Amino acid sequence: MTSSSVAGLWKKLTDKLPKSSKRSAVRNHIVVPRDEHIISRRIISDNALKVMNRLNQANFDAFLVGGGVRDILLGGQPKDFDIATDATPEQVRDLFRNSRIIGRRFKIVHVRFGREVIEVTTFRGNHTEKESKHQSARSESGMLLRDNIYGSVTEDAERRDLTINALYYTTRDFSVHDYVGGLQDLNDRLIRVIGDPATRYREDPVRMLRVIRFAAKLDFDIEAETEAPIPELAPLLKDIAPARLFDEVLKLLMSGNGLQTYALLQRYHLFAPMFPATQAMLNKQVHGAEALIQQGLSNTDARIAEDKPVTPAYIYAVLLWPAVHTLQADIMASGVPEIPALHQAAERVLHKQQQTVAIPKRFSLPMRDIWELQFRLQKRSGKRAEQLLEHRYFRAGFDFLLLREQAGEIPTGLGQWWIAFQESHPETRSAMLKPGQPEARKRPRRRRRRSSAPRPPQ
Ligand code: ATP
Ligand code: MG
Repeated sequence: MTSSSVAGLWKKLTDKLPKSSKRSAVRNHIVVPRDEHIISRRIISDNALKVMNRLNQANFDAFLVGGGVRDILLGGQPKDFDIATDATPEQVRDLFRNSRIIGRRFKIVHVRFGREVIEVTTFRGNHTEKESKHQSARSESGMLLRDNIYGSVTEDAERRDLTINALYYTTRDFSVHDYVGGLQDLNDRLIRVIGDPATRYREDPVRMLRVIRFAAKLDFDIEAETEAPIPELAPLLKDIAPARLFDEVLKLLMSGNGLQTYALLQRYHLFAPMFPATQAMLNKQVHGAEALIQQGLSNTDARIAEDKPVTPAYIYAVLLWPAVHTLQADIMASGVPEIPALHQAAERVLHKQQQTVAIPKRFSLPMRDIWELQFRLQKRSGKRAEQLLEHRYFRAGFDFLLLREQAGEIPTGLGQWWIAFQESHPETRSAMLKPGQPEARKRPRRRRRRSSAPRPPQ
């Protein structure tokens, strides 16, 4: 997505855009006919087209909206296709056998075609005092706990988060509709929240994260009024369900722009409410913590750029390691051996973390292994090294060790040894190993070191 593709795209269009900069939610309704924009049916998934056609045939409105329209207009390929309609979720479900209604807070219909899911959302309307609790509910801080009030397409546009996410494309006449100045903002490369930003963030604090995510992903500026309330309202993220934040954090840090997104999260004070223990380590300037996080994110960005697989376990292992390692040292200072101290520290840090961002077990278990491997990889004697190569998470643990060396948290050396060991022929491997410890090692354990400094490679 280069700026030149955007500039070229809007040549014909900019004359049409109104010059008004008034912050009213619904501005002039701009219609861009099919020959004046670059969206064509060829770029849209066949399944999304099928859904729109079927809705239209049943006399409902149906628009492609959100990332599908935004990314195509920017010359990119959308990652999924969202459709907005005036049909209710139940009416949509009745039209598609392969569909089901999901969500209670915000009902949507998933229409499934093999591995592809098309999300169909009924136009949202404005909230008034009259609605029943089943349709709409707000918390004391203004957060929308339920949003199932339906409305018109213009109301739907007002209820969306960003102007660039509120462009509507219809296959009835292949035109694009803009009610909130989204085309102008796409042209100006600007992230702007629709309506009053503070109110919109109070309704749903995750919108603050979305502002950051799209600014980083698209390399857009954040409009002044949109960014102004964020640092002050950032603590509202504490009210968001931890499972929802887990999904959001993945989108933030595992979409290929993790490092830049992290910098923005820090700049707008959004990181601390999600990762309080990590932030405490950063504030204390724990040795290597900041470098480790930055290097870990940059390694993940590089892997994504090369189309290599990435796992949340690695990112979360990185984010929580400074807190776990520091707490482990404290526990060891009271005489607990290294590995049990690690387990206790991991337990406590993970337990605390679940209260803000919930990490599913399928990731927290490998995280613990990655951490434990940091100590097991130091033992290179006898059969142990060979056995470690077979460890389920050897690769992740080894990558993590290299990361710590790369970030300067520990001296280099051990990582190189493991690289050489893996590359060596099995028969010459034994020469690399230290002699094994005698099996009957019943002598009293050495007193553990009290220092929190990581051990140098053996
Ligand atoms: P991508 O799918 O590329 O991450 P997207 O913009 O399509 O980007 P989705 O999460 O798929 O993002 O949401 C689809 C659309 O729904 C958005 O473009 C936006 O219009 C609307 N939307 C999503 N989340 C919110 C929210 N929290 N508040 C208001 N509108 C939202
Ligand atoms: Mg989408």
